[in-house]
Amino acid sequence: MNRRKFLKASAITSAALIGENLWRGGTPVTYGSQRNEIKLSGEKIPVTMEADIVVVGGGPGGFAAALRAARMGVSTILVEKYDMPGGVHTSGLQGAYNAGVGGIHTELMQRLDKEGHVYTVTEKAFPDWAGNPLSHYESGLKPGSSFSRSTFNPEGGGNVMLAMLEEAGAKALYNHTFVDVKMKKPSKKDTTLEAVVVKNASGLQAIKGKVFIDGSGTAELAARSGAPFARGGGLQPSTGAAGRQNWPLPGGLLWIMGGVEFEEVSQYQKSQNDLALSKLISTALAAGDIPPELFRPRLEGKCVYGNLYIGHPTLDMNPIQGPGNFIFWENVPYEWALHIDDNANDEARAKTAMRRFIDAEARFLKKYVPGFKNAFITNVGRYLGIRDGRHPIGEYVLSIDDALNSRTFPDAVTKPMTKNFHWDCYKPHTFEVPYRCFLPQKVNNLLLTGASMSFTYETIFMVMRNFPWCIQTGEIAGYAGASSIKQGIAPKELKWTTPLF
Ligand SMILES: Cc1cc2nc3c(=O)[nH]c(=O)nc-3n(C[C@H](O)[C@H](O)[C@H](O)COP(=O)(O)OP(=O)(O)OC[C@H]3O[C@@H](n4cnc5c(N)ncnc54)[C@H](O)[C@@H]3O)c2cc1C
Repeated sequence: MNRRKFLKASAITSAALIGENLWRGGTPVTYGSQRNEIKLSGEKIPVTMEADIVVVGGGPGGFAAALRAARMGVSTILVEKYDMPGGVHTSGLQGAYNAGVGGIHTELMQRLDKEGHVYTVTEKAFPDWAGNPLSHYESGLKPGSSFSRSTFNPEGGGNVMLAMLEEAGAKALYNHTFVDVKMKKPSKKDTTLEAVVVKNASGLQAIKGKVFIDGSGTAELAARSGAPFARGGGLQPSTGAAGRQNWPLPGGLLWIMGGVEFEEVSQYQKSQNDLALSKLISTALAAGDIPPELFRPRLEGKCVYGNLYIGHPTLDMNPIQGPGNFIFWENVPYEWALHIDDNANDEARAKTAMRRFIDAEARFLKKYVPGFKNAFITNVGRYLGIRDGRHPIGEYVLSIDDALNSRTFPDAVTKPMTKNFHWDCYKPHTFEVPYRCFLPQKVNNLLLTGASMSFTYETIFMVMRNFPWCIQTGEIAGYAGASSIKQGIAPKELKWTTPLF
């Protein structure tokens, strides 16, 4: 999709062109078929900062990119909409703690551990957790089997990441929202990003850079720069989900409850033979105490399409932070087909509905479920995490077939990796990723990271969206950006011959 189509597709009207290629976005007010537009022209935006590398978005990808670049001694600015780095895993409350995969990921996990932010549960503390239908991660295990599940405290984790950036000398700008781009004059082949425009407490400001990195999680910088991309929702018939094209995989808003007495919950589950709390849910539904969409039936499909996220049929929780605290998943109904990443109405509808669901679920738990009487909502994620935003089309697009067939590449960024693929129900596959997946088409000084990589939707979602990999891709992008600056070349000219990991 080109820039023009992007503007159309996302229902954002280009209200004015200011200088060359700079447009101001906004959701049009629509009356019938008429668009009501205002024109802002000639507005001057002050350039308040400049750096070698400008990273937009401080999630796992953007955080690691800024950290690596700053550590390599190039001036680095990170622009982040919320008040800490970490994205879905801090502001979004996910807190995924995993065994270190090397580099910044291992360093971060060790530091989170050392600073006391990691909470681990095993079958010793939770004998009824493995195989429990309420368990987000362990429901598939044999009841009573051993397990170990660790998470990090999202707020504490955000503080650690913030400190790491400061220590490295990266300038992180929190509560700064990227809204726009200023492009240099296009050459025959490519265009070059000159500056990003951010909105902050002072109004609109521009930040100039030499190399830019997209860590937005939804390829927003790539899209606004005119790089081609595929919109979320492109499910392929081969997944068994025929007929559901243009349904982006649902986003999710996470929230936490404290004061839960889990032993009482499991006693109830066993004594009443009501493992999924279906009896209590039916009673509450009949009494009009929960909306019918809250615990809706599963949709068909295999693995992740059918059983894990889609349909969100019942309560879905995981211990986090310390005894009595649980994190809950609230997913947008898949069939609503909302494009949360690029449609303001969809985003507002989703966020409102998720807040309503959280309120209803918390009330239901307290009123009906033993063990929740004294429980209370402690946090709701600062944002609704997006699982299927824009997918940029880069110099190479890694497909699920590349991964399944272990295709090798001369510019592989890592040694061959072996991962369990959601795609075929967690079978392990060994594969490589080329550097070209970090390079969007058309824009020559932009690098991609995390969930904004040039992968097909299936490859991102079914294989490559997890926290460790997003940190790794961030580190690779930061390394590539800083190396380009040092060599005085564009990231597209960088010769990648040796895997970084
Ligand atoms: C609900 C949910 C649950 C998940 N569960 C797991 C899990 O259990 N384990 C796991 O490993 N992975 C999980 N994932 C996947 C993983 O969290 C994501 O793939 C990963 O966080 C993507 O990293 P990212 O850095 O690309 O983007 P994000 O984490 O989305 O970070 C993007 C950052 O950019 C910022 N940003 C966005 N737009 C702007 C803007 N305009 N201006 C300034 N800043 C901006 C955001 O505020 C955010 O901080 C989950 C994802 C979701 C949505």
